[in-house]
Amino acid sequence: MPNFYCEYCGRKFSTVASLAAQSCPNHPNGMSKGKHRLYQGTEKSQYTCEYCGRTFSSIMSMTAQNYSYHPNGMGKGKHSPAL
Ligand SMILES: [Zn+2]
Ligand SMILES: [Zn+2]
Repeated sequence: MPNFYCEYCGRKFSTVASLAAQSCPNHPNGMSKGKHRLYQGTEKSQYTCEYCGRTFSSIMSMTAQNYSYHPNGMGKGKHSPAL
């Protein structure tokens, strides 16, 4: 069975439907202002941030950190996994 991950918070889901049905605590518009978003890439042992190129062992550890150099402005966003 494949796992599905939210691109914003890194939570793991067993179905896309359950992912899309729940609000995301890490949504870029604000806490629980939107649904989880499916990460379209494949499951990896390391994930690279598409903005800064740093690598993380999981999407969850990547998105848990506040990100100072986001293109939207200082502290305005999170790292985001490249596909
Ligand atoms: Zn999420
Ligand atoms: Zn980054």
